Amino acid sequence: MAPVTQRPSFNDVFYASLQKLPEGENFLACLQCGTCSGACPFGYLMDFPPSKMIASLRAGFFDRVIKTDLVWMCVSCYACTRACPAKIPLTQGLMTRAKEELLLAGNVPTELQDALENSQRYGNPMGESPRRRAAWSRGVEPPVKIMSQARQPVDVLWFVGDYASFHPRVEQVSQAFARVLNALGVNYGVLGPEENSDGDSQRLAGERGLFEMLAEKNAQAFARYSFGEIITTDPHAFNALKNEYPALGINYPVRHYTQFLADHMAQLKSLLRRSMKARVTYHDPCYLGRANGVFDEPRRLLKAIPGIELVEMSHSQETSLCCGGGGGGMWLDGYTWEKAHVRLSEWRVREAVAAGAEILAIACPYEAPRFEDAAKMVEKASRLIVRDIAELLAESIGE
Ligand code: SF4
Ligand code: SF4
Repeated sequence: MAPVTQRPSFNDVFYASLQKLPEGENFLACLQCGTCSGACPFGYLMDFPPSKMIASLRAGFFDRVIKTDLVWMCVSCYACTRACPAKIPLTQGLMTRAKEELLLAGNVPTELQDALENSQRYGNPMGESPRRRAAWSRGVEPPVKIMSQARQPVDVLWFVGDYASFHPRVEQVSQAFARVLNALGVNYGVLGPEENSDGDSQRLAGERGLFEMLAEKNAQAFARYSFGEIITTDPHAFNALKNEYPALGINYPVRHYTQFLADHMAQLKSLLRRSMKARVTYHDPCYLGRANGVFDEPRRLLKAIPGIELVEMSHSQETSLCCGGGGGGMWLDGYTWEKAHVRLSEWRVREAVAAGAEILAIACPYEAPRFEDAAKMVEKASRLIVRDIAELLAESIGE
């Protein structure tokens, strides 16, 4: 009689898939100290915060985790990963793999499903026409070069990103940054309609296949043109291009715009003529700071603006609080409110007010709409001004 082979359980298959990830073997070293769940901004609310997920995996009960939809409260903020003493890849491994399983099981909030479908159909989560990608640049002088029209090599290919291209508030940031680049005399261009979403937030929301499709479309567009390096407005795009695209064979030098400008500090300083007497605090975006270690450059840029006094919030740099927009959170506001009745952006605005700031400086396109909305709700925050660093620089230049 042939031996009966038992099919591996869902729990075993899931555990094995985690162990194949970079640093995945570290899962075996979990101390069950609970630091990850304590550091998680929504750990108190999740049925299975990260440490309990690992305990469930060890006990063979991971199918119970997939049945709860509270995994969607994870905003992929990296707070758990950075806090873990055993260096377990929680954000990019455990939480993202769990979301993949929820998607496969059809356990996904409708608003997130819509954003993913839009990304597939239109190349951006908002469902905007790709033809409108460079509409924000109308009126910028000298005009922003669109690569397919300019047909000449550039030093810098600016990967503008979804919210910086289509969101009415963030379009102002793109215009400001274009003016700063023009003032510096940088030879740059944008992909315009050929740019697709970087796909990083879709990946962290569990849609790996969609991420790869979007990355491939961007790779085809990059290959058509000649440029020295890519700069991004969006830390999520920076993270994708720096850490994820190379594994797909898409390799280009990339910097976030704050790194690029900090490297032009001497020239930039000579242009920053207008003084801006204000107390400013800076919010470290998760995907610039905690995920990629870029803490100094944004602060150096702010300190270079005459008149600005930089103050820190109680959570800053590695311990910065998430704005709530990462890992699909940008497309889950209704769901998050229904479950938690709090907004992470409001917590952050309260900290800015407590620090005595008049301006909350940001460097991520997700943040202006989120913090400006939050400031309307938080006591004593009605006079808090939210400005991207690019906007503050353009204002000081006098553009
Ligand atoms: S912080 Fe790391 S070691 Fe501690 S419980 Fe969480 S995953 Fe385990
Ligand atoms: S990535 Fe952030 S939100 Fe997600 S589990 Fe870790 S700490 Fe919580």
